[in-house]
Amino acid sequence: MTPETVVMKFGGTSVADAERLKRAAARIVHQREAGRRVVAVLSARGHTTDELIAMAEEVSPHPDPREMDMLLSTGERQSCALCAMAINDLGHRAISLTGSQAGIVTDTSHTKARIIDVRADRIRDALNDDLIVLVAGFQGVSTSRDVTTLGRGGSDTTAVAVAAAIGAAVCEIYTDVAGVFTADPRVVPTARKLPMVSFEEMLEMAASGAKVLQLRSVEYARTHGVKIHCRSSFDESPGTFVIGEDETMEHPLITAVTHSTDEARITLTGVPDRPGVAAAIFRALADANCNVDTIIQNEPREEGRDAEVSFTIASEDLRAAERALDPIMSELGIAEIDTDREIGKVSIIGAGMRSHPGVAAQVFETLADREINIEMISTSPIKISCVIRSEAVPQAVQALHEAFQLSLAEVHEERPIGQEAR
Ligand code: ASP
Ligand code: MG
Repeated sequence: MTPETVVMKFGGTSVADAERLKRAAARIVHQREAGRRVVAVLSARGHTTDELIAMAEEVSPHPDPREMDMLLSTGERQSCALCAMAINDLGHRAISLTGSQAGIVTDTSHTKARIIDVRADRIRDALNDDLIVLVAGFQGVSTSRDVTTLGRGGSDTTAVAVAAAIGAAVCEIYTDVAGVFTADPRVVPTARKLPMVSFEEMLEMAASGAKVLQLRSVEYARTHGVKIHCRSSFDESPGTFVIGEDETMEHPLITAVTHSTDEARITLTGVPDRPGVAAAIFRALADANCNVDTIIQNEPREEGRDAEVSFTIASEDLRAAERALDPIMSELGIAEIDTDREIGKVSIIGAGMRSHPGVAAQVFETLADREINIEMISTSPIKISCVIRSEAVPQAVQALHEAFQLSLAEVHEERPIGQEAR
């Protein structure tokens, strides 16, 4: 019988310096010695990716995307080669592979490529030769044979895709936090680590600002049924399992409060009120690869008057969005474009709200009590998001966390004696 295979992914902080990298190597070896076959996916060390981006911007205002990918992909290669050296010194045999060597095939959209296939024969062969395999995260090779990268945080998606391709028992994501929390512990010190969360909730959390996992990695895991375990690289305690909804035992009303201040709002005023206008606007944004979130369109009160359209996008896409909208503005006769970078978003997520009325009212009341003005609202069956001023975000997160009683102390109180929380 072939032993179980695990994928272990280490984030940038977990391999930031020589000491941490050696610690990661020791952890990998530990799993191997416990009889498992190990594929480790590594991120670039520390702030390497940011530094590489800054380097590119120093020589070019709009770096060519293909060359950007050639540059950015080097960060993860460094980590893997160094880790292989450290593992070899521990008396095990390791081989490092680039994304391309590992068979990660993507589409051709540079800096935001999507994985379309994992041809894992080389990984499998190396595992069969008893090697520990290190795969450079965040990168692949496109169908036109160029090096691509998968977007910020993309090593998570590499790890999940590799786990799916080789049928790994679990995809472990080692990071500098102990798991997935009911809120960002830096904003809410009493936030609680969740023992498990469903794919659906995790998707909403990743989409609304939780930084533990890249959104695409969660989508990929859900589609391919990969079990994810997010845990700390600094201790042995279990973290958070991300699993199918039918497997989770708890169905709390609200699972978490998330927030984001990395978004901007674009408002178009004087938009002609006729069919096809919204389609043209959002087609242009889609073609420029800009992911739009909350959209609000105001119908003009009198016929023949102009409408107003506003929407939120990631701040990093703002420039691309403005460039994409420029030709559309004159073509359609849109009067004005206005951008606002000072927005923030708070969201509450919970599978239990599907069947529970009154959650939205409680969210709005909580924010009203703190005199926080809500500028936009968007919902899904398991999420309510409010766009507010960015400076009000910490207060809003704390208030909602308290209103829905998500802190450790509150959970303890609810439990009958003898059933303390783990
Ligand atoms: N190094 C890349 C980034 O910083 C990918 C990753 O770490 O997942 O976004
Ligand atoms: Mg990450």
